[in-house]
Amino acid sequence: MSTTTFTKKTLGLETVDPAVTPSPASSDATLPKKPKLGATKSKKREIPEGLWTKCPKCATMIFDKELDENLKVCPKCSHHFPIGARERINALVETCSFEEMDAQMVSVDALKFTGVAAYIDKLREYQKTTGLKDAVITGVGKIGPHRAAIGVMDFSFLGGSMGSVVGEKLTRLIEAGTEKGLPVIIISTSGGARMYEGMFSLMQMAKTCAALAYHARVKLPYISVLTHPTTAGVMASFASVGDLIIAEPGAMIGFAGPRVIKDTTQAELPAGFQTTEFLVDRGLIDAIVPRKEMKERLIYYVDFLAENRGKLAAGA
Ligand SMILES: [Zn+2]
Repeated sequence: MSTTTFTKKTLGLETVDPAVTPSPASSDATLPKKPKLGATKSKKREIPEGLWTKCPKCATMIFDKELDENLKVCPKCSHHFPIGARERINALVETCSFEEMDAQMVSVDALKFTGVAAYIDKLREYQKTTGLKDAVITGVGKIGPHRAAIGVMDFSFLGGSMGSVVGEKLTRLIEAGTEKGLPVIIISTSGGARMYEGMFSLMQMAKTCAALAYHARVKLPYISVLTHPTTAGVMASFASVGDLIIAEPGAMIGFAGPRVIKDTTQAELPAGFQTTEFLVDRGLIDAIVPRKEMKERLIYYVDFLAENRGKLAAGA
């Protein structure tokens, strides 16, 4: 009976100060220790929530401001955290050079889709929480000395899924690139086609690729940048047809998820399956580019492709 009371007391005390329980006898010996423990405790209490983020790879606590300044890359182990489309654009383009296209385009619920939640409610909810109209931002901006048609996806909006708005915005971007003679750069992150839009969503795969084919016909470069995660319908369409396909380190890239593949093939999957590093070895991806080097590498690649395009045109 007394033991039960004791345990209860200890449990109750845990949240207050567990350091008090062990040594009631030697008060002199515990004196120097007490403030130490008390100090760490109060330090913990002083940290307001939402100011620190724990790195899932190396478990370091990173100050959010530091993480933002480091483009959401862990300063200790270089783990790439998800980053919003706007932050990414800000980090890539020259100040005030980005002219957004089709900023107000929003999805309609053509199928009147209702599942666990109605599609239209989901759209409204995500528009409110993310401040985005849909899962991609497109526009023309300057990266270093080059003007480029830039599309950046955002995973925080319905898993970066591609519905008619994502497909249409990207298609218009590519067509603008073709018309204005600009290279196209698309930074992808997506769970795939948006199932709420059924066939309309799947049609975007063909539409974006067709627009890219016209862009390629006039020998303009298209650089596809894959970030964590780029999968399914997006990977199976515009994301995998770049003249150059580059990816951020440690990104998961593939069509179907590893569990589905394992169940279907009944085979053990190799280590590192569907990661950037694995796919570079197998030739699907041309280069691994850390986020912090992305801007200078894109400038270099556009330089290179533009220069060779000039040579090709001269030779023809
Ligand atoms: Zn880390």
